Amino acid sequence: MKNIVVQKFGGTSVADIEKMRHVADVIIQEKENGNDVVVVVSAMGHTTDHLVKLAHEINPHPSERELDMLLSTGECVSMSLLTMALQTKGYKAISYNAQQIGIITENVHTKARIIDIKTDKLRKSLDDGNIIVIAGFQGVTTEGEITTLGRGGSDTSAVAIASALGAERCDIYTDVEGVYTTDPRVVPNASRLEEISYEEMLELAHAGANVLHPRSVETAKQYKMPLRVRSTFKYNNKGTLILGVEDMEINKPVAGVAADLSQVRVVVCDIPDTPGEAAILFGSLAKENISVDMIIQSYARKVKNDIAFTISKEDLGKTQEILQRVKEQLGAGDVSFDDNIAKISIIGAGMIDRPGIASTMFKTLADSGINIRMISTSEIKISCLINKEDAQKAVKALHEVFNLGCDEIAEVKGTLPDV
Ligand code: ASP
Ligand code: MG
Repeated sequence: MKNIVVQKFGGTSVADIEKMRHVADVIIQEKENGNDVVVVVSAMGHTTDHLVKLAHEINPHPSERELDMLLSTGECVSMSLLTMALQTKGYKAISYNAQQIGIITENVHTKARIIDIKTDKLRKSLDDGNIIVIAGFQGVTTEGEITTLGRGGSDTSAVAIASALGAERCDIYTDVEGVYTTDPRVVPNASRLEEISYEEMLELAHAGANVLHPRSVETAKQYKMPLRVRSTFKYNNKGTLILGVEDMEINKPVAGVAADLSQVRVVVCDIPDTPGEAAILFGSLAKENISVDMIIQSYARKVKNDIAFTISKEDLGKTQEILQRVKEQLGAGDVSFDDNIAKISIIGAGMIDRPGIASTMFKTLADSGINIRMISTSEIKISCLINKEDAQKAVKALHEVFNLGCDEIAEVKGTLPDV
């Protein structure tokens, strides 16, 4: 039996017909190496953004089911075009959407989790000599409803398919050359990491490094699937390998610095200091699938607490609605929202058992005149919430103090989002 390699191509890699032809060549090279190739593809260029915009033009609050029906079409366009490109080049190829394969997800719209992937059809098509091209980002419930996995979810489709098939590896092709110590648009001498562990990558992904969909890394970690992030346009370069921490040599305490500008801080004031209040508050958010990130409960000086936490900007509307309701139930005071914030994180498996990393981070921010508004830590990450306008200054200073730069200037793609 041949080895199976899963390749995933992002939207910028298939943005137009010329690029699709190039992607077909990258796929063919892998096939000619003697592997069975399964390809997962995203929607062309900014198609998904465009579809989201159309939906909101016609209805400011489109239903999530219809959003999934609409957004899932983007990937269908690119999978069939790419398959045609392969066929034109004389290769046997076939495309499948999630329904045809059986990429089964839970019954949740706009951010469903995959629960099972049927492989019979895929194996048969490979045995027949096909290159398979699959629509990423989409799934189907056991009742046959179309779902999507959340923005950027094609990465997760690819890793889940690779795991289900027992692939040798999963290559994520994108428009950058790998995973960097920080965003090269902010720090031009950011260095490409040769290797990074699943754990660090997971923290980096959650901390706002938009290279990989966090769930794809979780899945890779769970199945020990080696992941390689590499460039579609310089496809013979090695990129960055993501693997188990036990297989790595760690020499620096901090591997990377990330800034997340997409969070909103929520403060709920004067919550009675009695058992069960936090459970009600966060339970009501969890019920609506809203993830909460940093959480701080103030020290109860009287008989009331303030609880502050962060959520993602896309959940702001829903959170406002929920808190409006739950506020009464909690007997809480004011609720406020602030989106003028940035979460800056330093990440590194090498910080375990190495004291002084947190204090270096806080001192560096202080020396730059940056005020810290919230702090949270895990074994391999320290995050500080600061004002949004300080984000770039903070990233530069931390990248410098932890000695992450290299001599080369990275090739910069795109422009920074507005701050
Ligand atoms: N097309 C989807 C998005 O733009 C999924 C993906 O690209 O991974 O979010
Ligand atoms: Mg992506």
